[in-house]
Amino acid sequence: MQRGPYNTISTTDIRFFDSLLGPNRLITDPDECESYNIDFPSTVRGASRCVLKPKSTEEVSAILKYCNTRRLAVVPQSGNTGLVGGSNPVFDEIVISMKSMNKILDTNELAGVLTCEAGCVLENLENHLTTVGLMMPLDLGAKGSCLIGGCVSTNAGGLRLLRYGNLHGNILGVEAVKANGDVVDALNTLKKNNTGYHLKHLFIGSEGTLGIVTKVVIQCPPLPKAVHLAFLGLASFDKVLKTYHLAKRELGEILSSCEMMDRLSIDVSINNLDMKNPLTSYENGHEFYMLIETSGSHLAHDEEKLSSFVEKAMNNDIIEDGTLTNETAKINNIWGLRERISEGVLRDGYVFKYDISLPFTSFYKVVEVLRDRLRDPRIIRISGYGHLGDGNIHVQVSIPEYYVDVAAQLEPFIFEYVSQCQGSISAEHGIGFKKTKYLHMSKTSSEIAMMYDLKKLMDPNGILNPYKVLMPVTTELQS
Ligand SMILES: Cc1cc2nc3c(=O)[nH]c(=O)nc-3n(C[C@H](O)[C@H](O)[C@H](O)COP(=O)(O)OP(=O)(O)OC[C@H]3O[C@@H](n4cnc5c(N)ncnc54)[C@H](O)[C@@H]3O)c2cc1C
Repeated sequence: MQRGPYNTISTTDIRFFDSLLGPNRLITDPDECESYNIDFPSTVRGASRCVLKPKSTEEVSAILKYCNTRRLAVVPQSGNTGLVGGSNPVFDEIVISMKSMNKILDTNELAGVLTCEAGCVLENLENHLTTVGLMMPLDLGAKGSCLIGGCVSTNAGGLRLLRYGNLHGNILGVEAVKANGDVVDALNTLKKNNTGYHLKHLFIGSEGTLGIVTKVVIQCPPLPKAVHLAFLGLASFDKVLKTYHLAKRELGEILSSCEMMDRLSIDVSINNLDMKNPLTSYENGHEFYMLIETSGSHLAHDEEKLSSFVEKAMNNDIIEDGTLTNETAKINNIWGLRERISEGVLRDGYVFKYDISLPFTSFYKVVEVLRDRLRDPRIIRISGYGHLGDGNIHVQVSIPEYYVDVAAQLEPFIFEYVSQCQGSISAEHGIGFKKTKYLHMSKTSSEIAMMYDLKKLMDPNGILNPYKVLMPVTTELQS
């Protein structure tokens, strides 16, 4: 990939940023810039020599206005937990870190509406909402580090999507800054507001290529009074599907999460992170595991429903073993087994991660197909886990270090396979840098053409997160 037609940052530019932000919110030391240049799983590395930390929408606006005039490329960065290389510079783009914009602005308890700056950590918002009997409609393993603006910009899915839907439904309004520094105030707080174009959707999931999100308004559901978790062991993927089918029928409106993991995925948490498997009756463990969570308002009613579901599944010989709990500590421990897989697998060495949507008929087959294709002694594990209820599987292929020939066996094969199965090459992580060249496998040419039109309209100089989502269009640098 070639560097785009952007200017290189000069001492005059640094002086401008220094006068705008002061020395504490401007980083130019190469060592300090390092963590902003590398992604969470250490798979991409940029070469930025400048990180800016605005504290207000006005500062974001002033930065973008200046960069647009000077043709300086920028990359917005929030928690830097994204898994497609979207939040890191590719060359020397200026990093705009949103971490300092972290104020909660308003909490409307009755309407269940939270308004906050884009740099709030997801877990902090969750903790804040708990104090007023509300909750965030999304939850992810990265909640302690990811920021709400990053989640909105990737339209993050996560563990509660099955129940609460995705962020296109839960974000009521946004404030965003366009490439030229103009502020778009779309901070709607109403649930219903059908007045013209729904502009907020342009910024949800566009991965920082159309504007920088500075504030968000979120519809927050009431905190459930009763949460139960069933952790199940199963012998085959066919039985996983049967259990999901039964769970939907038996648990109905209280079903809030349905996750699956194969044996090699849970092994990551148990062996690499030294966690404990609560199901011990089978000496060698189970081929598959499921987490089925219910959230409701009546402890006894929910418990009865969940117990009766598990009993039915046992009697029908669908599950081998299971445990139920409503104790917070136990729930957190069990969720930890699932949520920490991403972290634990990194201890294997290098990990190829694929976040794909597939119809249930081919959902787990992709893992088996890859195992058949890559019979290579260097491979440590090929495993699959994910948000079964959303048709979204995460496939991980881990090896001690990056090997070009292994990469070549995996890509584009896996994306072609997903495309043939009518799946999506990115279920929830986005396109970022890593998947731009495969976008056409999940979007039609007319959709891609319209995406380019929008990009040109919103960011004519292409300064916002270049090389991401869409392949760059080469334009000459105008002075
Ligand atoms: C352990 C782990 C578990 C995960 N689980 C899930 C999961 O279940 N579901 C899921 O969807 N994802 C998951 N992810 C991926 C990731 O956490 C999410 O995509 C998250 O939403 C990224 O948030 P962030 O604050 O880290 O954003 P970043 O990684 O910093 O940025 C992500 C993208 O958004 C852009 N961006 C960031 N902030 C802004 C802004 N304010 N305005 C405009 N653009 C911006 C960046 O340029 C980049 O393209 C997981 C990651 C890890 C490490």
